[in-house]
Amino acid sequence: MRRAAPALLIVAACGATPIAATTAKSTTIAPAAIASPSGPTMPWRYDVVASARAIELAVQIAIPAGSWGDLEVDPRAEPFVQKVEVAIGDGAFQPITRAEAPPSDDADEPTAPVFRLPPCPAAGCRVRYRFALEKAALAVDADGVAAEHDGAVIAPPSAWLLRPICLPDEQAFRLHVTEAPGERFATGLFRGPDHEITGDLSDLPKAPFTAFGALRLRTIDVGGESIQIATLPGDLDLPDDGLAAWIQGAARLVHDYYGRPPAPSALVLLVPTSGRGIGYGRTLGNGGASVILPLGEHSTAAELGRGWELTHELLHTAFPLLDRQHAWLAEGLATYVEPLLRARKGIISPEEALSHLYRRMPFGLAAPGGPGLDGATSWGRVYWGGAIFCLLADVAIRERTGGKKSLDDALRAIVAEGGNVGARWPVSRVLAVADAATGVPVFSELYAAQAARCEAIDLAAMWRSLGVSPDGLAVRFDESAPRAWIRRAIVATATKG
Ligand SMILES: [Zn+2]
Repeated sequence: MRRAAPALLIVAACGATPIAATTAKSTTIAPAAIASPSGPTMPWRYDVVASARAIELAVQIAIPAGSWGDLEVDPRAEPFVQKVEVAIGDGAFQPITRAEAPPSDDADEPTAPVFRLPPCPAAGCRVRYRFALEKAALAVDADGVAAEHDGAVIAPPSAWLLRPICLPDEQAFRLHVTEAPGERFATGLFRGPDHEITGDLSDLPKAPFTAFGALRLRTIDVGGESIQIATLPGDLDLPDDGLAAWIQGAARLVHDYYGRPPAPSALVLLVPTSGRGIGYGRTLGNGGASVILPLGEHSTAAELGRGWELTHELLHTAFPLLDRQHAWLAEGLATYVEPLLRARKGIISPEEALSHLYRRMPFGLAAPGGPGLDGATSWGRVYWGGAIFCLLADVAIRERTGGKKSLDDALRAIVAEGGNVGARWPVSRVLAVADAATGVPVFSELYAAQAARCEAIDLAAMWRSLGVSPDGLAVRFDESAPRAWIRRAIVATATKG
């Protein structure tokens, strides 16, 4: 099974005043807006104290002057936000009652009551509340909101940090968490130069995975990227050293491909499960990088070393978040590049890597003249349609540059410009950076042909030209094929770094 797309979001911009603001969520009542007329200055400051056994979080927010409007959390977590109070300036705390959510333009988007913040004067405001973390985890039981795991809870800040409904273009926040004695806290949110957790309020609706409680933490450095490994409670045959060596190996593979750290830091959450092997992994970015992997308790080092799942997820950390309709591009890149990386390092053979692609790519084809890849939601189109796009791009770039450039150069340039999973990019920027890095407009042209519409693809002819043909359950190579030199380069290129 392949992965779900990293969660994406579109951020609405806010006006500088409540009257002028128009957002997708606010039409009939004073809309939320967080920006003083002179622009944002001070960060929002969140201080969180976790209670023992991750039962409850006590949250206090210092909100700078010029802020007002409605505050929310993930609608599924809203019932667990309790005792919300505000203090204006140096005043005493007063309760904030729940208010009805403003109407939303998106009928599919769940809504929940909101908390209406009065205008904050020059001295700012303080908001405090409790979040019933354990109750939320037991009731919701979803890692994307809150889920309990034998004494630890996974819950991204989207569930427990109140944020303005209407997000400004730029408004920094800082987060400090005080752990319960003997317990730990781990988050995929990036840290600033002072090691404080910092980000932009617009990251909070889908912020990275975070965990509290009885975690085992270890941090490894992979070529300058700090990767924190958080192992949740549960039995695992492999010792922590073995788990760290496996993660180090996969992260090194990805690092060497890009020739630089794919992101400043990342969190890998390991969730012990029954059986063996790796379950359904997911990557969550937005102001950070985090990967969650269910891991069978009887998994061996050899099995994990040959597995593709972690490499696939770590490749996601090296690509920006795009609008949901372009999920096929992120999945296609990870699906296409992952076996090639492992073949280039000798973990699997070139035949094994290309047999994998050869046999599955037909799942990604669609009827010519039908819908393009944009907006695709089926497994075949998202993963394998995306992978076909990458194969066609890779071959065309190599052919048109006489082998001087490839898909690798496009992906490396995107990471070099900060295009990791912590950042949200428009797809046009991905195309522009890829085309500039390779010197040929292959990405833009293919996008027009395959994403905006669905032009015919003769996949069998492409494989024949590369000298790849079926041989029982495997493939064999024909060195006399016209593009055999491209095929050799795809699986044999020495990685940079
Ligand atoms: Zn994926």
